[in-house]
Amino acid sequence: MATRKILTEGDELLRKKCRPVEEINAKTLILLDDMAKTMYKANGVGLAAPQVGILKRIVVIDVGDGLVEMINPRIVMTEGSQIGPEGCLSVPGVEKNVERPKCVVCRALDREGNEVEYHAEDLFARCICHELDHLDGVLFIDKAREEDEN
Ligand code: ZN
Repeated sequence: MATRKILTEGDELLRKKCRPVEEINAKTLILLDDMAKTMYKANGVGLAAPQVGILKRIVVIDVGDGLVEMINPRIVMTEGSQIGPEGCLSVPGVEKNVERPKCVVCRALDREGNEVEYHAEDLFARCICHELDHLDGVLFIDKAREEDEN
């Protein structure tokens, strides 16, 4: 396992739309391992593949309940809303309030290729939304509530 360099805002790779993973192979597994190591080392709660320069639909999340690896994740249901502070390893030193769903249901493949469904709320739901946005080139600062700026 190795840590990878986290790209920061201004890098054009962070603004690209990522491609689905078509085959989970040895490279995919190494990437998952490296992403987890990179996230933990940076004290993050989530990391998306484009943040380490790989334009694939892969995210890792750990909001304190253990590592979750998601390949080709998609949100299939959202409910309610929550507003709270958010940060990003690719936008260091910035924290802004962002509105997100209170609950989300997300489906993704695990590293064995099994489809797993996650019922997430609060921080986990926020984190899923944040990381999935990365896969479409969206950063949380794009969604920050304007009235909270300055
Ligand atoms: Zn982020």
